Amino acid sequence: MISFQILSSGSNGNMAVVRTEQADILIDCGRNSSFMKKNFEELNIDPSGIDGALITHAHTDHINASSLRFLDDFGIPIYSGSDIFGDILERFGEDSIQFENIKVLDQRFVKKIKDISVDFFYAYHSDEKVSATLGFCLECFDNGRKYKIGYLTDTGKVCKRIIAKLADCNILAIEANYDEGMLSGSFRPQKNKDWILSGCGHLSNTDSAKAIADIKKSSSASDSLKYVFLSHISEEHNTPELSLRTVRDELKRAGAGNINLFAASRDMRSKKIIIGCRNTRQ
Ligand SMILES: [Zn+2]
Repeated sequence: MISFQILSSGSNGNMAVVRTEQADILIDCGRNSSFMKKNFEELNIDPSGIDGALITHAHTDHINASSLRFLDDFGIPIYSGSDIFGDILERFGEDSIQFENIKVLDQRFVKKIKDISVDFFYAYHSDEKVSATLGFCLECFDNGRKYKIGYLTDTGKVCKRIIAKLADCNILAIEANYDEGMLSGSFRPQKNKDWILSGCGHLSNTDSAKAIADIKKSSSASDSLKYVFLSHISEEHNTPELSLRTVRDELKRAGAGNINLFAASRDMRSKKIIIGCRNTRQ
């Protein structure tokens, strides 16, 4: 059994929880400590038992001073790339994480956190505050079957290398940040719009649909991409309905219409998806 739930998605903060028989893992911690405390209480998750937090990059909607303090207070190990830790320490100070809680991921081997194997890859998302951004794949075995979750948020483009990494995911969270028409009509400074549109900014609804179709094509398992969450949906340049409609139409055109699509909300926890055999922890 492996479960996946998005607690918050968008520029106000990104955060998801993956749970298995043995492990509880967070992906991104872009909300404050009171949000984390409230959600963990409601979900019956003991923070001191959380096995790790995977952090994609150092923008404050993915990690911030308040969530860092929460993770540190409960001794939750933080997993990310060495360059991302460099950004975090520069942004939030050398004292923001105890040295023993820093767990640098290494591309030479897949990290095992209890019964979850964590693999990562570099996405395309950077600016003057962030030098690099990661995406993640989490796998676990249940009754001899492998289950896989993919997480790709904040990337200006999706290349063959990323498609190959995300092939055969049963559950995928991928950003669908903006609608091209809404972005071009917005009053944001042109410099900011240019960055969003660039190869190191964000994915549009159509970019996201194309990536989902390409991942589906590259997958061999019949239950690949059974559940896809469109995430990091912009409040100014998109709507959940528009994002779902655009991606659904594009996927139909690409012959990949049989995917359960969800739009992750900024303010509400997403539906929890459980795959494999249920256990008492769920
Ligand atoms: Zn970002």
